Amino acid sequence: MQMETAFSYIDENYKRISYEVGEACAKYRKPGEKVDIMAVTKTVDPLAVNHAVGLGIELLGENRVQEYLSKKEAYSKNAQVQFIGHLQTNKVKYIIDSVSLIQSVDSVKLASEIDRQAEKVGKVCDVLVEVNIGNEESKSGVDKNSLEQLLFDISEMKNIKVCGLMAIPPAEGSERFLAEMQQIFYDISEKKTENINMDILSMGMSGDYVQAIKYGSTLVRIGRGLFGPRNYR
Ligand SMILES: *Cc1c(COP(=O)(O)O)cnc(C)c1O
Repeated sequence: MQMETAFSYIDENYKRISYEVGEACAKYRKPGEKVDIMAVTKTVDPLAVNHAVGLGIELLGENRVQEYLSKKEAYSKNAQVQFIGHLQTNKVKYIIDSVSLIQSVDSVKLASEIDRQAEKVGKVCDVLVEVNIGNEESKSGVDKNSLEQLLFDISEMKNIKVCGLMAIPPAEGSERFLAEMQQIFYDISEKKTENINMDILSMGMSGDYVQAIKYGSTLVRIGRGLFGPRNYR
C-alpha cells in the first residue's frame, strides 16, 4: 500500500477542518484575524504526524513527556512542538530545550521550575497559563480567582514569557465557559501588565472548535478529528 493511500483519511479530515475553521473565521471574526490549527499527537505514529505536517500543519501538541521524548527525533523539523499536557515539576528539564511553548502552566511552583531550567539552557520560555474554567476537580489549570495572582508572580520571572491562556472547558455547556474565557482574556489584555502578553487564546478541540473560534480562540487543538480515534497502548 502506498503512503498516499494509507493516510488519505488525514487528507480528508484536514480538508474538512481547514474549511470549517475558514468558515467560522469568516462568520465570527474580523478580517485578518488568524486561527492556528494544532495537531494533537498523543498516541499517534510519527509517520502519520509527519503526513499532517506535510499538509501544512505547523504546530504539534504533545501531552506526555515520555511519549514525546520517544517520538521527537522522528518528527519533521517543519513543525514546532508545544507541550499541552499536565506537567510535573521534575520533568520540566527533559522538555525545556526542545518545545517551543508550554501551554499548561498552572502554579507558581511549576513556573519557577520552568524559569530555572530555561535559564540553565539560556532561553526565555514562552508559556500559556492554563485556566480550570469549569472548576473541575479532574482537570488541571489554575482557578480563575487565582489567575491574576499567578500572572503577577510569573511576570517577575526573567526566563518566562506569558503569551496567553489555555483552557479545556467542560464538555457540558461548553459555550458558557468559552464565553467566560473570552471575557477573562480580554480583561487581562486590557490591564497591559509588563511581561504578560495576551496574544494566544488556546481553546477548542475536535468537538467544539467552531464554537471556540466564535469566542475568540486563536489556536484550536485537534486530535481525533484529524487522526481518528486514539489507540491507547
Ligand atoms: C487530547 C487533547 C486535545 C485534543 O482532543 P481531541 O478531542 O482528540 O481533539 C486537545 N487538548 C488537550 C490538552 C488534549 O489533551
